Amino acid sequence: MLRAAVRWLTARPGVTLRPHSTVRSVFTGSGRIVLDSGEVLRGDLALLAGGPWTRRLAAAPVTLYRQTMLYLGRPAGGDRWDGAPAAGGLGREGRGWVLPPGAGTLLKLSSDTVCRPVEDTDSRGEDQQPHLDRLAAEGILPDLDRYPTAGVRVCHYTADAATGGPLLAPVTPGLWTRAACGGSGFSTAPLVAERIVQAVKEAA
Ligand SMILES: Cc1cc2nc3c(=O)[nH]c(=O)nc-3n(C[C@H](O)[C@H](O)[C@H](O)COP(=O)(O)OP(=O)(O)OC[C@H]3O[C@@H](n4cnc5c(N)ncnc54)[C@H](O)[C@@H]3O)c2cc1C
Repeated sequence: MLRAAVRWLTARPGVTLRPHSTVRSVFTGSGRIVLDSGEVLRGDLALLAGGPWTRRLAAAPVTLYRQTMLYLGRPAGGDRWDGAPAAGGLGREGRGWVLPPGAGTLLKLSSDTVCRPVEDTDSRGEDQQPHLDRLAAEGILPDLDRYPTAGVRVCHYTADAATGGPLLAPVTPGLWTRAACGGSGFSTAPLVAERIVQAVKEAA
């Protein structure tokens, strides 16, 4: 989907893509963008869509969340997972979810209860064991001990610090920010894009 979007954008007059460019800083007042190469890009308006890294580039009013995810192999005789749907609302607290294995992928398990606010995306040195213990205690999979653990990862989300929802707002008139939210950013992307275009047109 992303590759198709890139192909489509490349063919648009007036669109210039700058792949593999790292933004070093953004001037919040003017929205001027400085790349790692030192090149400065100017526009009428800049929209910062840096996902979990948003706060590194601008003082956007977002909260950064980290969630611990457990990746599991199939248990012996685990064919019952074939064709299984993703499932939510699981476990004693009703906040756990499981993404089934399929097409060579692992089973993924987590719970909203282990989603916590953090300062940065750097999770080195953070002990994941208390979060894993909590996931196990919730009983999301009643026979969890039958599944071989394949890995533990963390993922990050940003949300509007005031509402907990997605944020689309001007930081200053020259710089807008769109911080992603929760685990449904792909599925809502077309609606988000439409809302961004609408908001920019209204502002213009
Ligand atoms: C583990 C996981 C599973 C998920 N599963 C689903 C799912 O099944 N369905 C669903 O709908 N959503 C899912 N999501 C959520 C979805 O991934 C996000 O909501 C979506 O990616 C947000 O898109 P975005 O473009 O706003 O931000 P991102 O996809 O985070 O993109 C931000 C981009 O900014 C770039 N960037 C940051 N800083 C700089 C810089 N200084 N210079 C240059 N570039 C920079 C990053 O490299 C990145 O490409 C999942 C998220 C995670 C973490």
